[in-house]
Amino acid sequence: MALRTRFAPSPTGLLHVGNAYSALICQAWAEEHDAELLLRIEDIDHTRCRSEYADAILEDLAWLGLQWQGPVRYQSRHLDAYQQAIIRLRGMDVIYPCFCTRKQVAREIAYMASAPHSEDMLSEYPGICRNMQVDEQQQRMQQEPFAWRLNVAKAMAQLGTSMTWRDESGKTHAIEVSQDMVIGRKDIGFSYHLAVVVDDALQGISHIIRGRDLAESTGIHRLLQQLLGLPEPVYIHHRLLKDSNGNRLAKRNHATTLNSLRSMGVDAHKLGSFLLGMAKPAWPFEADKKAAVLRILGKT
Ligand code: GLU
Repeated sequence: MALRTRFAPSPTGLLHVGNAYSALICQAWAEEHDAELLLRIEDIDHTRCRSEYADAILEDLAWLGLQWQGPVRYQSRHLDAYQQAIIRLRGMDVIYPCFCTRKQVAREIAYMASAPHSEDMLSEYPGICRNMQVDEQQQRMQQEPFAWRLNVAKAMAQLGTSMTWRDESGKTHAIEVSQDMVIGRKDIGFSYHLAVVVDDALQGISHIIRGRDLAESTGIHRLLQQLLGLPEPVYIHHRLLKDSNGNRLAKRNHATTLNSLRSMGVDAHKLGSFLLGMAKPAWPFEADKKAAVLRILGKT
């Protein structure tokens, strides 16, 4: 089988240095293994994604020197594929409609908090709609918005096997999916988990390279792959780039954007070598240390 990986950003903002690090790792891996690198724009969430960001991402990646093969896949143009997966899971009776609002879930969790449950159960969906009678389900589905949740216990019982994911060395890791995750969101119909699994299979991705922050999602992805009869990719969860205070570079922490580095005149090639060359990946520049950034990553 051809070796193939992908970089799959969500256009909810501009790419930052942490995203660049991830993209460059995907590219370096692909070069080293003579593999293909595909680019996918994960834009199913129309409440947060914007086409201007998608365009800016392509521009920033081209500046960075990322070279991907074939056309870019936009998830928003393939909703039918995700709908088919929902229909299939419904047919297997492993998903159920959930009518809960966030408030209801929070109230139930707060109520459970006063009972002697373990700490980590307290943030999990407490299964309010899991055992609803079919009549009630059908009646409410006509009248109320609903999400689709995966009945994890039922799904696991149907599969009858233990769940694992495999890393590059071939080592298997046990997986626990602890709660009935939403795989079809009330507002957009699908969830990241469902779309990513369907697309990775459709695009023939053999190796999924992404940050450790997404390692927790690998459990639900493996479960969905098994239910949908999709091939098992290898997973590589790379370390995360942090700032000098040890915080993960993320949009919400206002991480330095590639766009700002580009407008400062930073040399993209030097930035790439700098990021990939870091043994302990920590981004040492504050947003306003323009001179320092230019000195190290500039034309000097
Ligand atoms: N779209 C996801 C993100 O930007 C990444 C998905 C993945 O690599 O599986 O965080």
